[in-house]
Amino acid sequence: MHNLGGTEPFCRCHGTGCASRFTCNRELLVLLVECDVAIIGGGIVGLAAAWQLGRRYDCRVLVLEKESSVATHQSGRNSGVLHSGIYYRPGSNQAQTCLRGRRLMENFCRANHLPFELCGKVIIGSTPRELARLNTLHEWGRANGVQCQIIGQDALLEREPYAAGIRALLVRDAGIVDFRSVVQCLTSLSQEQGTEVLTNSYVHRAHVERQHIVLETDNLTVHARQVLNCAGLYADRVAKLLGQEPTIRVLPFRGEYYALLPRQYCRHLIYPAGDDRVPFLGVHATRLTDGRVLCGPSAVLALSREGYKRFTVAPGDILDTVLWPGSWHLARSLWRTGAREILQSLSKKYYLRVLQRLIPAVELSNLRPARSGVRAQAVKADGTMIRSMYVQESRRALSVLNASSPSATASLAIGETLARDLINRLRSD
Ligand SMILES: Cc1cc2nc3c(=O)[nH]c(=O)nc-3n(C[C@H](O)[C@H](O)[C@H](O)COP(=O)(O)OP(=O)(O)OC[C@H]3O[C@@H](n4cnc5c(N)ncnc54)[C@H](O)[C@@H]3O)c2cc1C
Repeated sequence: MHNLGGTEPFCRCHGTGCASRFTCNRELLVLLVECDVAIIGGGIVGLAAAWQLGRRYDCRVLVLEKESSVATHQSGRNSGVLHSGIYYRPGSNQAQTCLRGRRLMENFCRANHLPFELCGKVIIGSTPRELARLNTLHEWGRANGVQCQIIGQDALLEREPYAAGIRALLVRDAGIVDFRSVVQCLTSLSQEQGTEVLTNSYVHRAHVERQHIVLETDNLTVHARQVLNCAGLYADRVAKLLGQEPTIRVLPFRGEYYALLPRQYCRHLIYPAGDDRVPFLGVHATRLTDGRVLCGPSAVLALSREGYKRFTVAPGDILDTVLWPGSWHLARSLWRTGAREILQSLSKKYYLRVLQRLIPAVELSNLRPARSGVRAQAVKADGTMIRSMYVQESRRALSVLNASSPSATASLAIGETLARDLINRLRSD
């Protein structure tokens, strides 16, 4: 191992003739690197935190991502919806983070010429329960300062000619954005600030020492004064590596999408009123920034944390789910919803029936299988699904154990909070 010292911002491969500032391609060489903050995970949360940190504080930041590119998992496999903040109880942390995050994201996209559009959405209600839910969301939206109004059938059809519903909540402040390009932009901006973003860097071991945490990847040993764990679907496992005892378990919920053709079935965003017992919004139709229309996502418990295909199985992940008491509590309380989701995953006809409640004219031939994504959902031992951001702290590490939707929308606000916490920690170290 080469101990390359820590006096320079990042180590150079002195004495080996390697000009690389940080990485070294020489095989069998393990570099020792010192930094102030190591961020594990190159998704939107990790990179938003890296960027916000680099803007505010002169420190050495290193991002370690196990895949060959950033935004490979949740951040690159979502619905691309810029959430307005209507779904969250006024005054709650979730509402504040979403509202601030949305504004920051709009400004960020404008400033960096990234594709986004505040196209607005309709949330549709037909049954008495759904209409009551629309009223609640309307109240919450107004209290949160979101531009929204209840509209009747005629106004709904004028906006979305193929949608069906007695009434709808029109939310003007909702929009669409390409989160993958946001992550790529955050990566470039962070690199300009001097942050190193290393892909193909799977953190497989860690231990805590008095002055720092030691992280190990295949070709790198990192000494970091502080570690920020933004490992998404693996955040609980990484927390354990960092010496923490996570009080939750991450359960993977796969969301399957279909592409909807022709595209005019959905002009903007069409959502159901949803079920407030679960943190998922129900199958909806979404126009993407490139004009395609996606329907989905469903929410079925996956057999693998990064299992994008229905029958991808990871025995370790299944064991993790099965051995967690919260999984059983959840199964008991929401078995009907779970069974419906499984049916939806196995039967395209059933999926179609769910979608036809929003857009009756859609037929099987209009749906083409599209990509899927897996949500990282933190669940407590008593079966509670955590809805807001959830961070577990120890002396040298912060673990983001829950950053579920709308965390892509809210990522810049989340990154801001995490950056502030890290700066305080570095200052008081
Ligand atoms: C189907 C779906 C639809 C969604 N729709 C929306 C939406 O419309 N709007 C919205 O705001 N939000 C949405 N979300 C939520 C949003 O995508 C997530 O909240 C957000 O992307 C979480 O980002 P992250 O950085 O925490 O996780 P991720 O993007 O999953 O990043 C975690 C990273 O950590 C890396 N990693 C893991 N373990 C290690 C390790 N040991 N070493 C190194 N690297 C590691 C992974 O490879 C990964 O790249 C959706 C999510 C899904 C799945």
